Amino acid sequence: MINEAINALEDGIASLQTLLYVDAVQPLLYRLGLMGYDEDTYDALYWVIVGVLQIVVMYVVLRPLEAWFPAESWQDRKATRVDVLYTWIAKLGVFNVTFFFLLQPGFDRLQSLMAIHSVPDIQFDGLWPGVTDGPLVSFLIYLVALDFAGYWYHRWQHRFGVWWALHAVHHSQRQMSLWTDDRNHVLDTMIQAAFFAALSLFIGVEPGQYVVLVAVGNLLQSVQHVNARVRFGRVLERVLVSPSFHRRHHAIGYGHEGTRYGCNFGVLLPWWDMLFKTASWNSAQEPTGIRDQLPPPQGRSRDYGDGWWHQQAAAIARISRRLFPAR
Ligand SMILES: [Zn+2]
Ligand SMILES: [Zn+2]
Repeated sequence: MINEAINALEDGIASLQTLLYVDAVQPLLYRLGLMGYDEDTYDALYWVIVGVLQIVVMYVVLRPLEAWFPAESWQDRKATRVDVLYTWIAKLGVFNVTFFFLLQPGFDRLQSLMAIHSVPDIQFDGLWPGVTDGPLVSFLIYLVALDFAGYWYHRWQHRFGVWWALHAVHHSQRQMSLWTDDRNHVLDTMIQAAFFAALSLFIGVEPGQYVVLVAVGNLLQSVQHVNARVRFGRVLERVLVSPSFHRRHHAIGYGHEGTRYGCNFGVLLPWWDMLFKTASWNSAQEPTGIRDQLPPPQGRSRDYGDGWWHQQAAAIARISRRLFPAR
């Protein structure tokens, strides 16, 4: 059933891709004399369509929840606007697609070298032949494997100062909404895209499957940031990261402080937080943001920037101050 639904969705997107390409994009490329980028543009269009579909689904499903059952009440939604811009940039998938298709040839070469020198295969199917034959089984295996890597990746974003300076762009939003997931520094987005694309190739994820994995992951992460009182219940909350679980990760004083540099690092599955003792199930409502944004005495009114450019530049300034502290 799920396989058929995924196939139907893929077919639908593929026909939309061809339609848009033939009627709109190809004539434009021809006019601009850019026919050399023909194939790449066609591939990239797939991601653009998936991204736009995601934004539509997010808006239609999550925005009413924010209006009807807000977790936090705000005077206005001005502070969320910049996150909408982040979402559009990220959902066009430019970084992911570039890395996946750029890395593919390199990895093909690496694999043939490994075969020549009879190094054991790194892909799951090589470790356990046949395990990835069922599309749903392989999808779940890859999802769990990538999520495990995602947990540690996220924990290290909090652990290492320079990396935290980048990740702080995400945490500096004090009005967390359905748009906040994509609020990240460009450098952070690029490093993350390269890391997960490389890892996916390494464990044998097919490009078509990678698109679905990224899309499902992104949608679930948008749900986690929603400013709505959505309760998953005691059981489901331990299966999938819920909005209240992730809101705790953004809570000032809890989510990114303490000896482990915070709690609730899980990307899609809270299992790793449970396993490595970083889970907090406390769903008490706390203000979100970073402590030093608060006025004294709790903080020092630190400014992380309002607009996109300001936030990006402020992160670079934080990093250079860390690397080259004034004498
Ligand atoms: Zn974080
Ligand atoms: Zn977040």
